Amino acid sequence: MRLLRIGGVVSAIALAATMTACGSSQKTVDTEASASSGAGNAGALIGVTMPTKSSERWIHDGDNVKQQLEALGYQVDLQYAENDIPTQVNQIENQITKGAKLLIIASIDGTALTSQLQEAADNKIPVIAYDRLIRNSPNVDYYATFDNFKVGVQQASSLLKGLGVDGGKKGPFNVELFGGSPDDNNATFFWNGAMSVLQPKIDDGTLKVKSGQTDFKQAAILRWDPATAQKRMEDILTKTYTGDTKVDGVLSPYDGLSIGILSALKSSGYGTSGQPYPVVTGQDAELASVKSIIAGEQYSTIFKDTRKLAEQTVKMADAVLKGQQPEVNNTTDYNNGNKVVPSYLLDPVVVDKDNYKDVIIGSGYYTEDQLK
Ligand code: BGC
Repeated sequence: MRLLRIGGVVSAIALAATMTACGSSQKTVDTEASASSGAGNAGALIGVTMPTKSSERWIHDGDNVKQQLEALGYQVDLQYAENDIPTQVNQIENQITKGAKLLIIASIDGTALTSQLQEAADNKIPVIAYDRLIRNSPNVDYYATFDNFKVGVQQASSLLKGLGVDGGKKGPFNVELFGGSPDDNNATFFWNGAMSVLQPKIDDGTLKVKSGQTDFKQAAILRWDPATAQKRMEDILTKTYTGDTKVDGVLSPYDGLSIGILSALKSSGYGTSGQPYPVVTGQDAELASVKSIIAGEQYSTIFKDTRKLAEQTVKMADAVLKGQQPEVNNTTDYNNGNKVVPSYLLDPVVVDKDNYKDVIIGSGYYTEDQLK
């Protein structure tokens, strides 16, 4: 940093070359360097990479981030990788080549980007991890997300509410557990949050995981793939739920998986007046799933307002590019294996039939017409 003060007129490029030559690869955001080039970042290109268009939430995220950055005068290169890791790696490399001044990344595999991020750091390009933490790299400057442990707590609490455990019902209830993609850092946060609520109920006999599959590894669904979840539910139903044994609840961490799970249940005879669906949770308040909740199929979801996440991330990006300190509210929980990444956590909200009008329509996330 001392180098920066010498002369005061050192160009950003010469400075970057000097810093690289000094081997300062451990650095992440160089606020003084950014400050000195702050004015030069007006209208800069920002690279935004999102995992996939196969889930609605990421389409909303991408659109919101792009619109809000453009409103501040930045140029945006927005890319989707259809959950293919090499595609995302190429997209990030291209953005660096095109001269992006900052990267916003919602990673597919949070451990797969180490060398691209090193390249970004070598080029003095700050990186913001979007919703999903990027792991095993010192070159992640900030992280904007929702309180992911709380998401899991809310999913499990909603499962208990749906089963009537809150109202004093003793069970035992048969439940099955699904987890997210093991390469997504969020998945273990959701799982640990959920198990912090469910494990005591498993231990005291209120809940029984009939399949015996209680490990995250057994429950995890690679790449959050709905078809894999459907197949796993079908297998569990065939092997475990024979005769009169019925499943009463399913912990599902994402609406797309819930759709696959409900479909397996339907093929197995659930969803009739004689045999209603079990309590099935979810996440993301995707349109089809909110409709499913209204129709009495899926029980609940977790609403994460992507407009607010985009807003917070765009504020962070703008501050970094102006050489200011972005607002963070958590500097303890998100260790990426290399360092604790300063984070901003937003609050998730449980949505079920009781409150969807207030929360979803009331906030303008969907209109009443969209939910018909
Ligand atoms: C996100 C969830 C989403 C899941 C699948 C997670 O990283 O936090 O909101 O349901 O990915 O896309």
